[in-house]
Amino acid sequence: MSDVRVRFAPSPTGRLHVGGARTALFNWLFARHEGGSFILRIEDTDLERSSAQLEQGLLDDIRWLGLEWDEGPGKDGGHGPCRQSERTEIYRDYADKLVKAGRAYPCFCTEEELERKREASKTEGRPPRYDGMCRKFGREELEKKREAGLPESVRFLVPESDEVRIVEDMARGRVEFPPDMVGDFVIMRSNGMPTYNFAVAVDDGDMGITHVIRGAEHLSNTVRQLLVYEALGMPAPRFAHIPLILGSDRAKLSKRHGAPNIEDYRKRGYPPEALVNYLAFLGWSTRGDSEILSVGDLVSEFDLSRVSDSPSIFDEEKLNWISANHVRGGGSERYFEQALPFFPERMRQRYGRGELARIFDIASENLPCFERLAAEAVSFMPGPPGYDDDALEAMSGSDGLLAVLKERFSVLSDWSEGPVRTEIKETGKETGVKGKGLYMPLRIAVTGMAHGPDLSSILVIRGREDVTGSIAAAIENISKRGG
Ligand code: GLU
Repeated sequence: MSDVRVRFAPSPTGRLHVGGARTALFNWLFARHEGGSFILRIEDTDLERSSAQLEQGLLDDIRWLGLEWDEGPGKDGGHGPCRQSERTEIYRDYADKLVKAGRAYPCFCTEEELERKREASKTEGRPPRYDGMCRKFGREELEKKREAGLPESVRFLVPESDEVRIVEDMARGRVEFPPDMVGDFVIMRSNGMPTYNFAVAVDDGDMGITHVIRGAEHLSNTVRQLLVYEALGMPAPRFAHIPLILGSDRAKLSKRHGAPNIEDYRKRGYPPEALVNYLAFLGWSTRGDSEILSVGDLVSEFDLSRVSDSPSIFDEEKLNWISANHVRGGGSERYFEQALPFFPERMRQRYGRGELARIFDIASENLPCFERLAAEAVSFMPGPPGYDDDALEAMSGSDGLLAVLKERFSVLSDWSEGPVRTEIKETGKETGVKGKGLYMPLRIAVTGMAHGPDLSSILVIRGREDVTGSIAAAIENISKRGG
């Protein structure tokens, strides 16, 4: 194992979405490529919005994607606890250290006061920075405030500087921020919980994280986190901020775009490795040309230097193309079990495993997700289909032809593809009907549709009785309509 340590740090306030999954994946790929460790940390300081149930959902989704963690829930690596809500003493200790060292101070400003000041700076056109009011309290004043029972938070004292603040980012290069961008910021809230920027820096430092790979929306937070590392005397990790994911309208991907949770994709029957393949290309590219990569390929090729610095567009059609390639390439053996529950009940009752596997083989020619199996395999639905007007129109005048086919099929001794095909050809000769005129009415009689997979495969799998029964139903419908 190398000493590379990365982490994925989701907040359990909802299911894992595409953006989170992509962040988890980049961390996991980097860890596996480097032979390092992938740590899962649960950022549940927002007690009201977090829940054990949502955490369990996240874990299920991460596992389903195949991104097993080396340390985290259920796996203590000696750097725990892995939930921020169980680490409050750690934050408290570090915050005390900073206060003792004069790098942080207690703050008694109320939310109303702060709001008033923010408004004032807005009207005066100043950036809304904290004015440092509580910096200067002496011991006596502190006691007085405490006795008055005012809510007490802890603020980080940002050293005055007129130098630009720099983040050296592995994905974006050197990024500069204005010197006055940050004012003294709260590190411990009055309810005893740490703020995000403090908790994350303490944890990453304490857990020995070497590389922080996360969404670009956190780039500016890095400035505050670097200040915390410096004040705590901890070495800062290296950072790689990965591009935002946008919807096709170039707005940040959200529920509005149908922005999908990983759970939705699981339920719709996408193979996890197809999703992983697609997500890997949201902000990263390979050296080669192939876009269809196995998880193993991705691990061996993953490299932070090829992370893009411009946003990527989430495109479900591309996902479907990649996924259909995986399904086609993987073949029935690989995906059959996963696909099985997606067969309509009626098909599962009627056919044995061998037949279902054969149907899957045919229907998976272009199948991005197993949810579409029912539609792709509809020609194999047992029993006479329904006939709409177009179907009846296309079959009109073919009742004689269908009757001959039915007769021949009924007495055919070997119900397999070769003989079935021969019977159709012989019927053509006998009736003088050729090509489309011969095959189309038969296909429609049996499947209700003008298009579908290879007709003789359908006939053989559907079985003699089902086929002749459906032809009889078609003939009846044609005559009811008046020929
Ligand atoms: N809990 C944060 C989030 O979900 C983690 C950000 C980070 O990786 O630092 O956005």
